[in-house]
Amino acid sequence: MDQRDFSGLQRLVVKVGTNVLSRNDRLDREYLQELAAQIQHLRGRGIEVCLVTSGAIGLGARELGLTGRVSDIVLRQACAAVGQPILMEEYRRAFQAAGILPAQVLLTREVLNSRSSYVKLRNAVERLLELGVVPVFNENDSVSVSEIGSAFGDNDRLSALIASKVDAELLILLSDVGGYYSSDPRTDPEALLLSRVDGVTAEMTAAAGSAGSMVGTGGMVTKLQAVRIAASGGCRVVLAHGREERVLDRIVSGEEVGTVFSAHRRLRNKSRWILHSAPRGRIVVDAGALEAIRNHKSLLPRGIVSVEGTFESGDVVLVNEAAKLVSAFSSRELERLAGLHSSQISTVLGGADDRKLIARPEEMVFLEDDGIEESGV
Ligand code: GLU
Repeated sequence: MDQRDFSGLQRLVVKVGTNVLSRNDRLDREYLQELAAQIQHLRGRGIEVCLVTSGAIGLGARELGLTGRVSDIVLRQACAAVGQPILMEEYRRAFQAAGILPAQVLLTREVLNSRSSYVKLRNAVERLLELGVVPVFNENDSVSVSEIGSAFGDNDRLSALIASKVDAELLILLSDVGGYYSSDPRTDPEALLLSRVDGVTAEMTAAAGSAGSMVGTGGMVTKLQAVRIAASGGCRVVLAHGREERVLDRIVSGEEVGTVFSAHRRLRNKSRWILHSAPRGRIVVDAGALEAIRNHKSLLPRGIVSVEGTFESGDVVLVNEAAKLVSAFSSRELERLAGLHSSQISTVLGGADDRKLIARPEEMVFLEDDGIEESGV
């Protein structure tokens, strides 16, 4: 497959970083208009577009007269609360001029972790797209504290989760780097921009993260993580400089702009959700039980050695460091069931309990698994 062939593209997610959106520490309105025109052009080609934007915290800080990098978490929350409506006001203005109606969708990690809100989000996005609206996503930074600066914090991974959620075939990360280089272009004059990368290896992530040998500018680690998330959803990623002339149109037309990262076989939607959810706890199982689930057999209480963390039935948990599953039992229940035979479940937990398995095979995913075919869950 020609990884640069986007001729059948139906759905695209574009992510723009703060550095791309701003010039001289201000939001660059001209650029926003140009971006809006490019998006409208793609829509004219029959492509549905979702946008993921950063910039709320920076705009808020500016509005509040704060200078320098704001690192205090509560102050960042406040900045986001001030900045997000300003950001949307700017998008509304720029998009209106291009004939686009934007919608604001703010996400927290909880929304993506909960299966039911994850599914509802998809419904809402589908309806917005049907209505001809361009959804503009950002994290809900003013309430999702862990998302700012630590646990989530970057729109690279968020945009990949959204791309996976809406089954986009392409995610374009617009940043202030031209793509993925063979080595750090700031220190190595021989550094080559790679036009195509098949698969993100542990070495690539390590090279991107180690100080002094960083590939591209800051944020390459989260970009590579985003690629892995998108790839498991069958979504290709192009990393390109946001200020390149007609960048979106040229990428979609198959021009060699930036770096294209190829996709894997698409995992089932539910498997992707399990894979990308933050685990609430961990079940430690013995080798026999791990082998059984590797062979697509169910996980039974007998194989449980111990239970870590506090979780409820329906939460995603780790199994050793190898897999993730949706647990049918809470951590309290599992602690009581560990090592027992399945026939003892109802006796231990009380009469009417008919849960037999900790997780069905389709509710378990191995962390390195990319071989499950899409079946439209
Ligand atoms: N959500 C943050 C903001 O809008 C930006 C996160 C990022 O830059 O990736 O300010």
